[in-house]
Amino acid sequence: MYLKTNNVVKQYANHLALNKVSIEVPKGTIFGLLGPNGAGKTTLIRIITRITAPDSGEVWIDGRPASDTNVTDIGYLPEERGLYKKMKVGEQAMYLAQLRGLSRQDAHRQLMIWFKRFDIMDWYNRKVEELSKGMQQKVQFISTVIHNPGLLILDEPFSGFDPVNADIIKNEVLRLREQGKTIILSTHNMESVETLCDNIALINKAQVVLQGNVFDIRKQH
Ligand code: ADP
Ligand code: ADP
Repeated sequence: MYLKTNNVVKQYANHLALNKVSIEVPKGTIFGLLGPNGAGKTTLIRIITRITAPDSGEVWIDGRPASDTNVTDIGYLPEERGLYKKMKVGEQAMYLAQLRGLSRQDAHRQLMIWFKRFDIMDWYNRKVEELSKGMQQKVQFISTVIHNPGLLILDEPFSGFDPVNADIIKNEVLRLREQGKTIILSTHNMESVETLCDNIALINKAQVVLQGNVFDIRKQH
């Protein structure tokens, strides 16, 4: 999917969180959303995912208002992740997959594929609370992509992982791009920005202060 925001403004009581933010994310690319804490990244993500409404400005997906897009065509991995600790991992993953619109049969088939791919089949019948933070993140990552959404929004998807598992997730992100998915990646990890992102926007104090192709920006700075 091709995503564009046009002059998005969001004001909280006494704080301007987004000041005329326009970004453009071509289909099949990875877009890095960068900036210090409090810059407005989460607010922008919440507006794109339609959790929050903007005060003014628009979000366009494939040339139409974002409200025309089915929410299940957006996969959102929030930074704060919660799984039900007392549920079994497989049950939890099945529940989330069906919540995202998959039939029981499709959910099960897809989960088998993903659990094998991430080498976590042994955990299927264990309780969520027995999983490490990284393991839980793998389950959440699976739940974000399992219904094959065209737009993925990943907020700090590599945090909480050791380097080996962070690389496994990075490779998955690259594979999803190859499949033509459009990916917005919010991260503080500059190394992953350089290796993964096609374009970036740097947000500071509610405004886009720099936007463009990663190679062009590197040449100029
Ligand atoms: P981040 O880790 O992305 O910087 P924050 O810690 O700033 O996020 O915010 C975490 C959550 O709390 C967000 O969902 C945000 O909407 C909410 N939040 C942040 N600041 C405030 C605030 N001043 N009043 C109410 N909610 C807030
Ligand atoms: P980032 O994700 O870049 O850290 P956020 O979008 O979470 O930034 O927050 C941008 C600013 O808006 C911060 O100053 C934050 O405290 C404030 N903010 C975020 N959510 C709320 C909210 N629900 N109510 C009031 N202020 C908020």
